[in-house]
Amino acid sequence: MRKLLFQGLTRSPLTEAAPTQAELAALARDLDRTAQARLGHSLSIREVDAGSCNGCELEIHALGNAFYDLERFGLRFVASPRHADVLLVTGPVTLNMREALVRTYDATPNPKWVVAAGTCALGDGVFADSYACEKGGVAAVLNVDLVIPGCPPTPIDLLKGLLALMERPAV
Ligand code: SF4
Repeated sequence: MRKLLFQGLTRSPLTEAAPTQAELAALARDLDRTAQARLGHSLSIREVDAGSCNGCELEIHALGNAFYDLERFGLRFVASPRHADVLLVTGPVTLNMREALVRTYDATPNPKWVVAAGTCALGDGVFADSYACEKGGVAAVLNVDLVIPGCPPTPIDLLKGLLALMERPAV
């Protein structure tokens, strides 16, 4: 017990270093600028949890916390797919969530993009062999425009992925 207590006091925390505010601000501003140029307005994101363990959601929620505070750059998460430009999908797509995901996609106006975030959404990871999940993740159900790997992807990974999506030439 004493050993554990000593280790707890002397070891450094098992958390990753936060990005600098300058790095974060540069990324978020670039993302908002490209979204404004492409869409004529700031990017609106609808997050869809298609059976995630919620690890990915913790990272996505972090984008709204006091440190990241994405809304100060104009980016926002919306409650309705009818207001969204991007569907940010996490989780392996459980069979029970398949129809909800398709309905959410159908309710999203064009132009729209689908981003599969996290290893599970890519059809890999801890749930890949489960009888309760689609084989192949989000791409088995919808056309995926961008994948953001990671278990879970960090907030900066998510921002970089969304920026890459907005910088892609239109097809
Ligand atoms: S990628 Fe990792 S954190 Fe995200 S839903 Fe799958 S197991 Fe959870």
